[in-house]
Amino acid sequence: MTSQRTRDRLINRLKEQGIDDQRVLDVMGRTPRHIFLDEALSHRAYEDSALPIGYQQTLSQPYIVALMTQLLLSVGERTRVLEVGTGSGYQTAILAQLVTRVYTVERILPLQEKARERMRTLGLSNVHMKHADGGMGWEDRGPYDGIIVTAAPEQIPVALKEQLGEGGVLVIPVGDSRGQSLQLLKKQNGELEEVSITPVMFVPLLEGIVGR
Ligand code: SAH
Repeated sequence: MTSQRTRDRLINRLKEQGIDDQRVLDVMGRTPRHIFLDEALSHRAYEDSALPIGYQQTLSQPYIVALMTQLLLSVGERTRVLEVGTGSGYQTAILAQLVTRVYTVERILPLQEKARERMRTLGLSNVHMKHADGGMGWEDRGPYDGIIVTAAPEQIPVALKEQLGEGGVLVIPVGDSRGQSLQLLKKQNGELEEVSITPVMFVPLLEGIVGR
């Protein structure tokens, strides 16, 4: 089966699961997911499941990528977006096609290097990468009008709340191995309004960096 047909199936499944932002569906429908996986796993790229990318990390489930992206785009224009946890770069690549500029931080250098290569393959030149502990955000490029975090802290890092601009939206899983919830925060008049979206299961947001 061609990857376009398997991708079309994935998009139909996302629609059935309630993803209704056409921009997100269009971009996910045209972005190859198999290039974000090692060859041995690439035949499973269009399953709606999380898949290993090495270093005990996972490529997020397509439904969760779609949901988080849809939440991020739900209010106003998203021009400058910060992503914490580049991982394979799949979520990064989706965002890069929907917002003006993506700043993405990863703590494991070899994962970042592979993701950088994939951005090049896809011709996405609006992605800026940093090898750092993303729990501290990326202060000198902020404030951001959207922040998306793809690893779960037990509590929302203060730096991320601070680097969110007025009118901005933060999408973040919060909790531990016993349970996590996807949280949506909006900054209005300097105040953060927070709502719980759905239970999720992400790898933990860890401190410090790995590699060079
Ligand atoms: N969106 C990615 C998800 C990867 S899993 C994808 O779909 O491929 C989460 C990623 O967050 C891992 O790569 C992990 O190394 C990274 N991570 C965990 N804690 C981090 C931190 N404090 N700063 C930056 N990246 C972090």
